[in-house]
Amino acid sequence: MKPLVLVVEDEAPLVTLLRYNLEKEGYRVLEAGDGEEALTLVAESSPDLILLDWMLPLMSGIEVCRQIRRKPASRDVPIVMLTARGDEADKVRGLNTGADDYLTKPFSVPELMARVRALLRRAQPTPDKGVLSFQDLSMDLTAHRVTRAGRSIHLGPTEFRLLRYLMTHPGCVFSREDLLNAVWGQDIHVEPRTVDVHVRRLRKVLVGPGETDPIRTVRAAGYSLDEEEGAVLSQGSEPG
Ligand code: CA
Repeated sequence: MKPLVLVVEDEAPLVTLLRYNLEKEGYRVLEAGDGEEALTLVAESSPDLILLDWMLPLMSGIEVCRQIRRKPASRDVPIVMLTARGDEADKVRGLNTGADDYLTKPFSVPELMARVRALLRRAQPTPDKGVLSFQDLSMDLTAHRVTRAGRSIHLGPTEFRLLRYLMTHPGCVFSREDLLNAVWGQDIHVEPRTVDVHVRRLRKVLVGPGETDPIRTVRAAGYSLDEEEGAVLSQGSEPG
């Protein structure tokens, strides 16, 4: 299921812009134009993340945030406050009320998307049970077994975690830094190029003769498990 993002914003052009970019990234989007509508939607639909404007009609974003945090069901949902105010004191106030992040308008869309991705990643731990599948790939998380078209694939622990992460988020493009944080952990210092080395090893075992490469290299951006049929592997490529 794709993550559900609730956009609480009363400026229609901004809502349109946010919806367009969030949907392009593969998220589902709900909209609320004021605080009361927002609280109703939070209770009814349990969004995975909330983009919350500070200046709203009827009820301020700060008050909406406070009420969302007060309810046990929505206590942990990530909230990004959007505001026209650039004041440091306001930022502190927003974060104290329970927002996880804060962006001042006008913000850059790639910056917002990066924060959304980071917060969703933090909120949704990678599963450790069950079976993941992608095209002809299958990963049994309990038995730690990977197969492609029925053939056993033997992976080292890092390649296993890397593939598990990609299979949990098919179609999402991750930068080397995203993958480092998710697979190696934020506290470990590893060179971003290390990711390329492990992607190369992963490809080497995943892709048999005549098989397609399920991992897509996105130039200057990173890697993704491609939702479309991949091209037949000719050479291991790395993002620029
Ligand atoms: Ca507003």
